[in-house]
Amino acid sequence: MRCDACPREAVIDQPYRGAHLCGSHFGDSVWERVRREMHRQLPRFRGGTVAIALSGGKDSSVALATAQRYFARRPNVRLVALTVDEGIAGYRPGTIRAAAELTARLGIEHTIVRASEALGVSTDEGARLLPGTVPCSFCGVWRRQLLNRAARDAGADVLVLGFNLDDLAQTILMNLARADLGRLARMAPHRYRAPGLVPRIAPLAQIPEREVFLYARQSGLPFDHGECPHAPAAARNVFREVVWRLEEEIPGTRHALLRTQAALVRSLGATEGGGPAACVDCGEPATGERCRACDYLRLARNPLMGAARS
Ligand code: SF4
Ligand SMILES: [Zn+2]
Ligand SMILES: [Zn+2]
Repeated sequence: MRCDACPREAVIDQPYRGAHLCGSHFGDSVWERVRREMHRQLPRFRGGTVAIALSGGKDSSVALATAQRYFARRPNVRLVALTVDEGIAGYRPGTIRAAAELTARLGIEHTIVRASEALGVSTDEGARLLPGTVPCSFCGVWRRQLLNRAARDAGADVLVLGFNLDDLAQTILMNLARADLGRLARMAPHRYRAPGLVPRIAPLAQIPEREVFLYARQSGLPFDHGECPHAPAAARNVFREVVWRLEEEIPGTRHALLRTQAALVRSLGATEGGGPAACVDCGEPATGERCRACDYLRLARNPLMGAARS
């Protein structure tokens, strides 16, 4: 198969737009979509600090490298990479090594936050203390809070996340299936700065997961391929499978899910604008009286509370 734009051999097909591209035109097409999303999600950004959540996997590594390229000619923009070490044996150490290698190579400031120090509990410990709970439920909540705190401490104006098109389509479908319109409305990209929350953007929103992988490989970025040992228990796996099947049968479904979310957020505008309150335990933003991170921390410290509630 030839590239649609030149006589070279195609390295990838894009069924959602009926295209085939060679390595060079593929690289251009990824960059162009990221550049456009950056521009769309971060309008009127005059300068300041941009934090990038860097796990050391392919997605956040591409997010960091493309953010550096996007802001390359803006000396008034400071980039800082933030990595959360949730404390997951056999998985996190490798990704942290890759993150450190990438930031050293790109010359970007790098901060690592350890859950065991910041919260007093790691994800592995949480999994032992809460055997009936899927680890991703508290791990994701804790990570989000630690990232927000670290971004705020770094004086960040915005936090870049490496979510790709597949990740976002899965999250949208999960929130729809759970009738969780609140969370659907709070998904990145954020247009408003809610009290205590650093707005998050997702510049890889238009890039399918396999294209992010190919782009990372093609660009020679160091990243870790490891899979978290807790991942097989995640509810997301079912939605990953469903989105994958839908996309195969009906190319363009992932993009349509993104448009569905955007249309719903527009009609739910009041929900997104409503700022969160402060958690009674830690003072971080919370949608209820106590934030979900503290809910899980209390359960981990006293698992009997969970048994009594269920
Ligand atoms: S797969 Fe789940 S437990 Fe593992 S790092 Fe991700 S959210 Fe945490
Ligand atoms: Zn080409
Ligand atoms: Zn709290």
